[in-house]
Amino acid sequence: MKGALAAMERSDYQTANSIFRNLIDSGLPLPEEMPYYFSETLFQLGQYDNSQNFVNKYLELTGFTGQNYESATRLKEKLKVPLAQIIACELCDRRGYRYESCTTCQGKKQTEQACSYCKAKGVVGCSRCGASGMIKKVNVFNLVDFYECERCGGKGRLTCPTCSGSGKEVSACKTCEGSGKTPSTALCNHEAHVHSEGAKK
Ligand SMILES: [Zn+2]
Ligand SMILES: [Zn+2]
Ligand SMILES: [Zn+2]
Ligand SMILES: [Zn+2]
Repeated sequence: MKGALAAMERSDYQTANSIFRNLIDSGLPLPEEMPYYFSETLFQLGQYDNSQNFVNKYLELTGFTGQNYESATRLKEKLKVPLAQIIACELCDRRGYRYESCTTCQGKKQTEQACSYCKAKGVVGCSRCGASGMIKKVNVFNLVDFYECERCGGKGRLTCPTCSGSGKEVSACKTCEGSGKTPSTALCNHEAHVHSEGAKK
């Protein structure tokens, strides 16, 4: 952790960030004060939601006894403004990552695929006449008469009720769950049409 603190000392928060992440990934027990220093680093990098998670974790673990209790409560105060901006902004997700147009549906919110009901044929067999177009009826002389099926007009086929004959089915895009947008890895500056540089989570 010393290396990370030295990096923070010289405002090299990117380096501090990667040292902290390696520390977490190592699976070793974390120093007690580490969540505070990490949250401070994340704050400096503009990762406010992550920062809040770690400062809360720190306060939860150490309570009033932590060496950095005061600084941690101050950091929580400092986080209020940027977190409120994230919530108010519609251009980013609740973690502050800028939305971009969904690449699966190109922002259309829906995707088009072959109709599963008619297997993209656009027509289905008429169920009343068994797709024959004719209805059999036994008349009073016990002879079989054939009538044209009224439902399909004798064609034996009907326009697919699911796709209305287009052979295509439209459904909400699964990638973006129908919202048309997915969060990118860039942190949002809460301004339209300007992309800010940001680090990946
Ligand atoms: Zn269909
Ligand atoms: Zn029919
Ligand atoms: Zn989509
Ligand atoms: Zn935003």
